[in-house]
Amino acid sequence: MRARYKPWAAELIEAHPGIVIPEPEKLKGRWQEEFGNANPLHIEAGSGKGRFITGMAQANPDINYIGIELFDSVIITALQTVLETEGGIPNLRLLRVNAQEMESFFEKNEVDRMYLNFSDPWPKTRHAKRRLTHESFLSLYETVLPKNGEIHFKTDNRGLFEYSLTSISDYGMLLKDVSLDLHANEPEWNIMTEYEEKFMKKGQPIYRMEAQYNS
Ligand code: SAM
Repeated sequence: MRARYKPWAAELIEAHPGIVIPEPEKLKGRWQEEFGNANPLHIEAGSGKGRFITGMAQANPDINYIGIELFDSVIITALQTVLETEGGIPNLRLLRVNAQEMESFFEKNEVDRMYLNFSDPWPKTRHAKRRLTHESFLSLYETVLPKNGEIHFKTDNRGLFEYSLTSISDYGMLLKDVSLDLHANEPEWNIMTEYEEKFMKKGQPIYRMEAQYNS
């Protein structure tokens, strides 16, 4: 998702260092201190405009959330949601960074769950290494998650879903819950992402899985 270039975005982000954390590496191993509690930490890699992560944080005040997004022009919408929410969203922080660098921001065991929603599919075989469910990423996530940590993944893209099922099971992870049409019987706890709403309205099935590391 690449929103139109917004020259004012960087300025607004800089004006709110308590929400979009400017130097997250300084908080590595200290996120509980940052949130002021010992609640679990759930993160989303590629959080886009933040509909999912802001909704989850509001629905689950006893869990801390971090949304990771590459682009100023996109993350700015999540920041605006926080600013427009009365009282803010105290259990949410945003990082405008590359999720590939997450080892610099989190210690082992510091993250309790990872969300991947509508990750870029990179359909060409030669780009498979860029898919966020490639084994190199699964290995990266394992460095910040605890033993038996979980990844929760949703997508509209059948090719990416099939690739991910194989990649995740080849990695030795346990597939706990797999749905080929999440909205056929939408769980009451489901919080939609921007992309999810768009594809659901077009009548496309949404695929979802929960996967757990076995070490
Ligand atoms: N999760 C949102 C949703 O479901 O509506 C956005 C989906 S969009 C297709 C994928 C997002 O992931 C884009 O906003 C993109 O900038 C971001 N992204 C892709 N690779 C990333 C990376 N390595 N680190 C952080 N964000 C990334």
